[in-house]
Amino acid sequence: MRIDVLTVFPEMFGPVLAAGIVGKAVRAGLADVRIHDLRDFAHDRHRSTDDAPFGGGPGMVMLPQPLFEAVRSLEPSLDAAVVVLSPQGKPFDQRAAERLAQLERIVLICGRYEGIDERVIEGLATEELSTGDYVVSGGEVPAMLVVDAVVRLLPGALGHGEEALADDSHTSGLLQHPQYTRPADFEGRSVPDVLLSGNHAAIAQWRRREALRRTLERRPDMLARAELSAEDAQILRALGWQPPTPVPGTPE
Ligand code: SAM
Repeated sequence: MRIDVLTVFPEMFGPVLAAGIVGKAVRAGLADVRIHDLRDFAHDRHRSTDDAPFGGGPGMVMLPQPLFEAVRSLEPSLDAAVVVLSPQGKPFDQRAAERLAQLERIVLICGRYEGIDERVIEGLATEELSTGDYVVSGGEVPAMLVVDAVVRLLPGALGHGEEALADDSHTSGLLQHPQYTRPADFEGRSVPDVLLSGNHAAIAQWRRREALRRTLERRPDMLARAELSAEDAQILRALGWQPPTPVPGTPE
């Protein structure tokens, strides 16, 4: 997969692309991540990439011309995603990461200041994605989140940890069960006995139950979309869950 990132702060990306799973995937050639300085596509002496908003008001707006030139120079394939990071976009969630991970190419456009000239969104973007309901000062950190969440899904990126993906929070539709490592007793807090029992079936059962309990406590909204077995539903009901009653005439 190739990912092109357009930014006025290319220097922010170095450590993120070098460390951990993303770094390994980049070095192994699973992900070809290219960071482009938008200022290279400016034409004036000051290498400007922004200007004052028409209609007045505070702040600056990112110019369309460097962004159009930059994206055109990348010659994205027809099926490439050209993503504008924006607090106004659709939520970037695990499903969106899974969808993007299927593509050959992604272009990520990082806004700054008051945002990006609307004609970029109309004329270049295939989608706008938001990493959450808050405003950060630039699209770089959101773009890093997208790169990380997508790259770790690429086949081979996790190495031996690949099977761990399946019960990751959100991938499974639930939050993950609690995790413990050594020592078995830390300052009087002990690990649940079942995890030390060596009984794999009992451990799997405990983990499922804890994942259900945790999701019910912290993110009950997720249960409406989760794939639940009859046994899961029984466990949840015992924990006080009331399954949502379908509204007649609406798809379940
Ligand atoms: N004035 C804009 C608004 O109210 O929608 C916010 C601009 S924000 C200060 C500057 C840039 O940061 C945005 O263009 C976008 O690229 C990025 N950004 C900020 N919050 C974001 C979020 N939650 N998700 C994705 N990108 C975000």
